[in-house]
Parts: sequence; structure tokens; C-alpha cells
Amino acid sequence: MRPVTAAVLRSPDGPFELADLQLDDPRPDEVVVRTEAVGICGTDLEFASMTATPAVLGHEGAGVVEQVGADVEDLKVGDRVTRTFARCGTCRSCSARAFAYCERFWEYNFIGTRPDGSTALRDTDGAPVNGHFLGQSSFASHTLARRTSVVRVPDAMDLSVSAPFGCGFQTGAGGVLNVLGPTPGSSIAVFGAGAVGAAAILAAVVAGCEKIIAVDVAQSRRTQALTLGATDAVDAGEGLAERVRDLAGGGVDFAVDTTGRAEVLRAAVEALAPLGTCGVIGVGASAEMSFEWRSILNGRTITGIIAGGGVPEEFLPRLIDLHLEGCFPVDTLLTRFPFARIDDAIAELRAGRVGKAVLMFD
Ligand SMILES: [Zn+2]
Ligand SMILES: [Zn+2]
Repeated sequence: MRPVTAAVLRSPDGPFELADLQLDDPRPDEVVVRTEAVGICGTDLEFASMTATPAVLGHEGAGVVEQVGADVEDLKVGDRVTRTFARCGTCRSCSARAFAYCERFWEYNFIGTRPDGSTALRDTDGAPVNGHFLGQSSFASHTLARRTSVVRVPDAMDLSVSAPFGCGFQTGAGGVLNVLGPTPGSSIAVFGAGAVGAAAILAAVVAGCEKIIAVDVAQSRRTQALTLGATDAVDAGEGLAERVRDLAGGGVDFAVDTTGRAEVLRAAVEALAPLGTCGVIGVGASAEMSFEWRSILNGRTITGIIAGGGVPEEFLPRLIDLHLEGCFPVDTLLTRFPFARIDDAIAELRAGRVGKAVLMFD
């Protein structure tokens, strides 16, 4: 048991209260990570409205291993790590190494406790506090993690830059590189150019896409997309699918939707060339999607993608190497805030004034 400082959500959509909590010792397959930096992702904001409270959210944590469980042999105290989602490791999906599609993903990541109902966080009066959010709950100075949701980070990598790699950047870049797999010279449209979309654009550059069309309602994000390597940037709105199709000479080979909005996904599918594939990455905005029957003929594919669809312990080191080589310059997307200013950081995110907010511990 150790004292930790955490940002606790006491009521849905309430402010985050900085509080002293107690964190249990790690189980045999767990480690304790001292958080140095944690990104804020759209999923944190979404769950802040619907999660059972009191709760600690946060799922883009990076830091240093402070204690290892008895069965953890390949990590040691002092290792620098970044974090990603938790998985069961034994279901059909996990056996096929499709970890992002773990059949028990919900239980391992979103119920506020471990799958067995236990929680590792307690208020000073001993009352349980929900945690284990996406396998971590990193809005806290120290957190527990299962060994399989921790990835080692090389010394040359800034931990605050690595923090969003485990969710937002992995989601955008992995969707393109792991799932869509565009060949050099192909065309792609990225709908929604926030942090996830920006990572998708950078990945499209890495893949050698010739035409990279960014779509966003915000001029600032369209301008940023062009600096990241998009060849075109268009506003959403009237005739969107047709405008994107025209820019790509009759339709794009690939599309990525990061917005989760029904009308945007519909345009993304309609913007595809015959045999094109649309990756659905965005979640939450619309509960149902609809398409005209003609728009999903012509060999088009629509595929849902969680967390970039890859194997985190392989894909995250690859993405970090790309960053260190200068080919995945996501540091320009970050705005850092002291941890205590979490509510200000969320307000800036909601207002669209920052792309990716990262909270820093001293
Ligand atoms: Zn996330
Ligand atoms: Zn599983």
C-alpha cells in the first residue's frame, strides 16, 4: 500500500478533485508505475459523463517502474515505460494476437475494477475508488498495470511525448499502418484532423501515400494538417463526399473516420473509389450509421478499428523509432500542463484550442 495523489471524479462531469488516495501493492502479474506524464484523450472526456464515481480516469500514462510483482521477470525497477489498454490474454482474439479485440475488453478496461471486482484504489477512509480505467487510471501519481499493458521506452524518447502513444497516436497511426496498409502512391482521406487524425495523416506520409486529404471543420486543424504532410485540406459540409472524390480523381483508395459522426462516416464511405476501404476509428458521437445501398457496393469495405488494431508491444516500439528518426513528429501536437491544472487542460481541449493535452507531474 502506498499513498498516491490522484485527480478524482466525484460526480459525472464534475470537476476533478486532487486527492490523496491509497494504492494497493501489485499482484504477481502487475507492476507499479510512477506517472511522469499522462495525455488526455476523448475517451476520458466521454467516460467522465458516464462512469460510476468516485473514479480515477486517465489512460495515456508514461512513467517509471517503481515496483514489480513476483511473476514479472522482464521488467525492473527504474525502467521507463508507456502504457496501453489491458487484455485477458487467453480468449480467441488474444490467442490470435488480435489483442485490441479481446473478447473481455470491456471487463478489463471499463468497469472501474479488475474483472474479479476488486479495485486497487482507496480513499483515506478506506472506501473503494473505481480505477483500472483502460488498464491503468493514470490521472494519478502512481498506478498499477498488468505486465502486458506496459511497453518499455528507450532512453532517447521523451516520456511526455510517449504518453499519448499508447492510445491516441497508436489509434490513428495503427489504423493506417496495421489495418488499412496503403501501398506507396495510393490515396487516403482522413476525416477529423484532431490528435488521432493527425497521427493518421503522419502515418499516411510514412506509408508513402501520394494523395492525403484532411477533412475538418476547423481552419486551424486544416492548416496544421497541411504542415504535417496532407496534400489537401477541405472543410466539412455540403457536398463533402463529392469534393473528396474529385480531389482524388474519382475516389480515394482509403478513408479513415475519426469523428464517429454518422453524416461524416457516410461521406467517408461515399468518397471511396471502387474496392476502397474505410476504417472506422471514431466512437461515441452517433449510435447508428446508415448508408445508401449503392455506396457499399463496388467492393468497398467498412472496417471497425480499435486502438490501431496492432500488437502494442510490437507496434509501439516501431512508432517510437519512427518518432526518434523524425518521421512521426507528433511532439508539435502537444501542449503540456501541470497535473494540478487538469480541469483547465480539459476546458482547452473541449474548446478546440489544443490538439493533445499532456499533464505533467513534478
Ligand atoms: Zn484514448
Ligand atoms: Zn482476450
